[in-house]
Amino acid sequence: MARAATGTETGPRIIPRPEHNVSRAQISKNALKVLYRLRDAGYQAFLVGGGVRDLLLGREPKDFDIATDAHPEDVRRLFRNCRLIGRRFRLAHVYFGRDIVEVATFRSSEDELAPDESLLVKDDEGRILRDNRYGEIGEDVWRRDFTANSLYYNIADFSIWDYTGGVEDIRAGVMRLIGEPEDRYREDPVRLLRAVRFAAKLGFRIESSSESPVRELGFLLESVPPARLFDEVLKLFLGGYAVASYELLRHYGHFGQLFPAVDALLDSEAGEPYRALLLEALQNTDRRVADDEPVTPVFLFSVLLWGPVCRRAAQLQERGESPVQALLLAADEVGDEQQRHVAIPRRITTPMKEMMVLQLRLQKTRGRRVLGMLGHPRFRAAYDLLCLRAQVGDADPALAEFWTRLQTLDEDARVAEVDPGGRRKSTDKAAAEGEAAPDAERPPRSRRRRRPRRRKPTGSTD
Ligand code: ATP
Ligand code: MG
Repeated sequence: MARAATGTETGPRIIPRPEHNVSRAQISKNALKVLYRLRDAGYQAFLVGGGVRDLLLGREPKDFDIATDAHPEDVRRLFRNCRLIGRRFRLAHVYFGRDIVEVATFRSSEDELAPDESLLVKDDEGRILRDNRYGEIGEDVWRRDFTANSLYYNIADFSIWDYTGGVEDIRAGVMRLIGEPEDRYREDPVRLLRAVRFAAKLGFRIESSSESPVRELGFLLESVPPARLFDEVLKLFLGGYAVASYELLRHYGHFGQLFPAVDALLDSEAGEPYRALLLEALQNTDRRVADDEPVTPVFLFSVLLWGPVCRRAAQLQERGESPVQALLLAADEVGDEQQRHVAIPRRITTPMKEMMVLQLRLQKTRGRRVLGMLGHPRFRAAYDLLCLRAQVGDADPALAEFWTRLQTLDEDARVAEVDPGGRRKSTDKAAAEGEAAPDAERPPRSRRRRRPRRRKPTGSTD
C-alpha cells in the first residue's frame, strides 16, 4: 500500500512548539490530566484528531481525543475512573464526572486491510472479544480519514507530528482523504458524510480527487447500519452547521440516501413550503447552537418528516380516515420507511408523533379545553413548529398569532379569549333567575367558573 509505505519510510514532519499555535491553555484540564499521566507512566501520549485541527484553526474543539501506545488494559490500570468500550475497536473512556476523554491505542493498519474472521477472538457464545491489532503511531496515522484529522500533538515536548501534510491542508482550507479516495470511501462510507460535515463546519473545500467520487459513491451509504447513520445525522444537523451541511448533502445526493421520501418531496412541485420550512428550521437550529441554546432531535426529525407525513395523511383522509387517525397512520408509515435508512429511536419518534398530532389540535381555538394545551408537555415544541409553518405558508398565520397572544395573557383573559360566550352565558343565566345583583355581589359561582378546569391527563389521546 502506497500510504503505508510513505508513512513508515518518511516519518513525520515535526513542528516544534514555537512554530505552531496549539497551547495547553486551550486543552481541557481533563484531557491534559490523561496525557500527563500516560506520559509519566512512560507511554507516548498525543492529542489527535479534531482537537488538534480545531486548535490550529483557532476554534474551540468539540472534544479531545487521545492516542497512545498504551494498550487499553494499561490505560485502565492507570485510571480508576476508566471503562473499556467497543468490541471490534477497543477504546478506553476515562470519566471525569460527565466529561469523557476517549483514549485509543495506536492501531496497525493490518486489521483494516484484513478484516478476516480468523483475526477475531470470540468467547464460547460467539461474542467477539477482540479484534484489535495494535501498532505504532506511524501505522495509526494511515488509518485516519483526512489529512486535517491526522495531526498528533505530543505531550512530551508540545510538538505536532504531521505525517500527511495535514498542517498545509489546514492552512489551505482543504479536506483531503489520506490514501486512495475511492478505496477509503469504500472501506467506510461514513467518510462520505464526514467529508461533507467537515467541509460545512470548517468552510473547507473538498480537494478534487477526494471530491470526485463523492457523488457516485453515495449508494454505499445503503450498506451502513442505520443506527450509525442516525449518529452521523445528529452531528450533521445539530452541530451548528446544519444549513451548510444540508446544502452540501443535497448537492452530492447524499440527502436522498439518508431521507429518500423527504428528498423526493423537496424535488417535487409540491415541495415548496417544505423546502422553506426545513431551511428555516435549520437556520434556527444553527442560531440556537451559536447562542448556546438547547436543540432537540425531536424537533429536527419532526420538521424533516413533516412534509411526507402530511402528504400521506391527506391521501389517507381521502380514503375516509379521520384527520388524527390519518396523521398517526401516516407518521407510522413514513417513520417505518425512514427507519430503513436512518434509525430514529423510539424516544424520538413517540414525541415526534405527539408534536405532529398537536398541529391538528392547535387548530382549535374555542372552548376552555383549548387552555389545557398550554400545559401539554409538547406544547412548546408544537407551537414552535406551528410558527415555522405559518412563516412559510403551511399554516394560517392568524393561528400562530392566536397561540402567541394566548401565552401572554393572564388566566382570566385567556378564558375570555377562548370562551367569549362563557361569561355572557352566566350573566344571561343570572338575569333569567332574576338576580339583578351587581357584579360585586355575584355569588362566587361565576368566579369559580372562570377558573380553568382541572386538566385531564393529556397525551393518552395523542
Ligand atoms: P469532531 O469531534 O469535531 O466531530 P473529529 O475529527 O475529532 O471531529 P471524531 O469522530 O471525534 O472526529 O474522531 C476522532 C478522529 O478519529 C478523527 O479526527 C479521525 O482521525 C479518526 N476517525 C474518526 N472517524 C473515522 C473514520 N470513519 N475513518 C477514519 N478515521 C476516523
Ligand atoms: Mg473528536
